[in-house]
Amino acid sequence: MTEPRDSGASPQGPTTEAVVDLAAIAHNTELLAGRARGALMAVVKADGFGHGMVQVARTALAHGASALGVTSCAEALELRAAGITAPVLSWLHAAHEDFGPALRAGIELSASSSEHLAGIAASAERTGAVASVHLKADTGLSRNGAAMHDWPELVAGARGFEERGLLSVTGLWSHLTHADQPRHPGTAVQMRVFDQAVAHAREAGLRPMLCHLANSAATLALPGSHYDLVRVGIGLYGVEPVRGETFGLSPAMSLRSHVINVKRVPGGTGVSYGHDYTTGRDCTLALVPLGYADGVPRSAAGRAQVWIGGVRRPIAGRVAMDQFVVDVGEGEVGLGDEVVVLGNGARGEPTVAEWAGWAGTNPHEILTGIGGRVPRRHVRESPVRARGRELFCA
Ligand SMILES: *Cc1c(COP(=O)(O)O)cnc(C)c1O
Repeated sequence: MTEPRDSGASPQGPTTEAVVDLAAIAHNTELLAGRARGALMAVVKADGFGHGMVQVARTALAHGASALGVTSCAEALELRAAGITAPVLSWLHAAHEDFGPALRAGIELSASSSEHLAGIAASAERTGAVASVHLKADTGLSRNGAAMHDWPELVAGARGFEERGLLSVTGLWSHLTHADQPRHPGTAVQMRVFDQAVAHAREAGLRPMLCHLANSAATLALPGSHYDLVRVGIGLYGVEPVRGETFGLSPAMSLRSHVINVKRVPGGTGVSYGHDYTTGRDCTLALVPLGYADGVPRSAAGRAQVWIGGVRRPIAGRVAMDQFVVDVGEGEVGLGDEVVVLGNGARGEPTVAEWAGWAGTNPHEILTGIGGRVPRRHVRESPVRARGRELFCA
């Protein structure tokens, strides 16, 4: 009668796990790709924001993404090792890494400085592969990317390496500072700077095929910033990225556990380290085996709630490394009862966005903070499997 693949219930019965709904990832990819004026890159860095990099990549590629974005060559090579042949861009490196393995695997690399470019060219020369490079401009984030006063030198250097046959500049790109606030004037300023950087590169003889600037928020709210490709991260995972607006994204992550101890205590009982919490009257306390080592933020104590037996209940006292206590009041709670720490909110479970609010952080940090010892279980995998390059060369 029940369909375990779709129900989300673990076939092993109560357990602690992060359940990742691949149908939600598929839905979100389609929604975002439908909004993008050009191509869509699925950003799967940090283990797919904690959702499982390879599973997310395959799902996104089967539902409208044509490229993948990661921060490191190690991540990119892991995608290749899983048999994924789609274009992959990696963008955060030391200048003189050995880029040889990435180049042999056809990974595209970002360069933000002449030193990075020289490092990539040296690896290309050693390897005998032509590097495909995206030059990154700093248009206002003051993080990675070449400052505008260094851009002409970076462009000229790239042109020189192109003439030597060591690399080909296939992309120009930058990153927005205020995309989550669509009316912020900073975005228009950044776009003007980016346009100037692109114009300069073309005048200097570069022929990049892909210009890209937009993240998830800009994909949804700033169509003028799309250029040839958008890079979507948080939206893929179902978190609404634009302040105060909803676009129909569906949260994919659900962090679940179960009650492993139950006790009645009198009013006035101190709970957890330091007794920050004292019970108001007689109540039932339930113990849950998840703690800050698993990504339940310690800073959310005093505000955070979890979902048990169809009701939200407050976390009582400090979150410990491996466990927290819930005050279930007069609620009926038994050993093995399911506890949903976060979910898609459909049944009233707390969402990632709520947790981010309770912890004073962003949803990205909550998702990527879900610890390595929490097993991931992927459900509702699409029957359409990514077949590789032929999917997006049409
Ligand atoms: C993480 C990242 C993204 C994805 O941003 P979201 O806001 O999560 O969509 C895009 N571009 C760069 C450079 C990133 O580091």
